Amino acid sequence: MIRSRCTLFAATMASAVLVTACGTQSVQDSSVPPSAVYTQPPMPAGATIAPPALPTPAQNCGDPTASLRPARDHAGPAVDRIRARGRLIVGLDTGSNLMSFRDPVTGRLEGFDVDIAREVARDLLGDPERIEYRILTSDDRIQALMDSTVDIVVKTMTITCERREKVEFSTEYFAARQKILVLRTSGIRGIDDVADKRVCVARGTTSLARIQDLQPRATVVAVPMWSDCLVVLQQGQVDAISTDDSILAGLASQDPYLEMVGGALGTEPYGIGINKADTDLVRFVNGTLDRIRADGTWTRIYDRRLAVLGPAPVPPPAVYRD
Ligand code: GLU
Repeated sequence: MIRSRCTLFAATMASAVLVTACGTQSVQDSSVPPSAVYTQPPMPAGATIAPPALPTPAQNCGDPTASLRPARDHAGPAVDRIRARGRLIVGLDTGSNLMSFRDPVTGRLEGFDVDIAREVARDLLGDPERIEYRILTSDDRIQALMDSTVDIVVKTMTITCERREKVEFSTEYFAARQKILVLRTSGIRGIDDVADKRVCVARGTTSLARIQDLQPRATVVAVPMWSDCLVVLQQGQVDAISTDDSILAGLASQDPYLEMVGGALGTEPYGIGINKADTDLVRFVNGTLDRIRADGTWTRIYDRRLAVLGPAPVPPPAVYRD
């Protein structure tokens, strides 16, 4: 018993301390690696191994980023409903550092997505503060829009043909690229190196589908929030995280042992999600996005929140389908 306690102790403490702790027992040579035994920390609630992807026929809706042109007169039932309520209900999360996260000092929600939502509230209600935030996981976004429990979702949400079957999107407001985040010492340099490795992704995302498509030999660990992926990577329960560079940069900024590797695995055009029936709101939001592209607000928000990704690009141009 005493002997095994000393062995465990040797795993974490210098040999000089062992002299006192273990009395007359032999002092370990600190050049010999100790054989420590660890138990696994628990996985975050809701973590599962994702089942292999079923083959799904690729949807083709033309250019999915093509949206509805801003109307000169922005009034309509959805806009009227929000103005009558006096607050814009915005769905996003608190676990995406840089994009939407809670400032630990002020307790306020901050980030690129939060700033975009504030510009919509500024135009709609005359005050960027008039927002009620509903915290959503990635997997909650579509249902929250279909149920109208939120007016808009501004949460790193990629515009896809499949999602356009169920919800409407604004024009593209950010162009992200899917990458891989690993420990600097991992030896993983890109998608080929995660074969037979464990990769963390949030459930209900394009990131999950793409990693299964590009690297079917990876074991995909699906969790509710991107911040859960940071925890399991730090705990050694996965070897990599894969999602948009905008999210990975935020995770990397919280841990100096992490780095993004490899080229872009795919492009992720972000849109503001809106209920299909609220076409007046789509047109209104597109008016705000046009304004912030043109008046320099978009670039100011980028420089404030995402400078770590490089110099501000030109904002994605609006594409309209009508
Ligand atoms: N952009 C990806 C998506 O919409 C991943 C980001 C996220 O889920 O928050 O699925």
